[in-house]
Amino acid sequence: DLTHEVQGNLPMGHGDEQRITQVLMNLVGNAIKFTEEGGIVVKAGAANGSFQISVKDSGIGISEADQRRIFEEFHQADDSDTRTQGGTGLGLAIAKRMVQMHGGDIWVESKPGRATTVSFSLPVRAEARKGAA
Ligand code: ADP
Repeated sequence: DLTHEVQGNLPMGHGDEQRITQVLMNLVGNAIKFTEEGGIVVKAGAANGSFQISVKDSGIGISEADQRRIFEEFHQADDSDTRTQGGTGLGLAIAKRMVQMHGGDIWVESKPGRATTVSFSLPVRAEARKGAA
């Protein structure tokens, strides 16, 4: 199951819609790729001037050691099942860059073998960052 919970009356955001969509697609794509049964929930809300978006799955999870490294370029979790799913190991590194260019942050929480939630925050009114493409 793929479901979503979006808070009502969200403020209008300012940012690069195409890039943010790419980030969300990447997280949902990973959740689907690494989940055999159960479901995926996408949540969106806003508080204190920031949007918070999360993608939670009931998949294979990520070990603590890998949680610290998955946002690095080309890093894929060591688990052999994970590697057979294919991919470039670049998606999360690029997602992190895009979120940071908007002045936000991205992080992961996971229970290995059970579940993963990847979340990101975005200032409601993102300013262009120095050096942003
Ligand atoms: P890719 O998916 O192309 O390998 P990413 O940068 O998107 O590259 O992800 C890096 C690694 O993080 C993945 O290879 C996988 O090991 C792990 N990972 C990412 N998302 C999840 C998830 N939802 N559940 C389990 N592992 C994940």
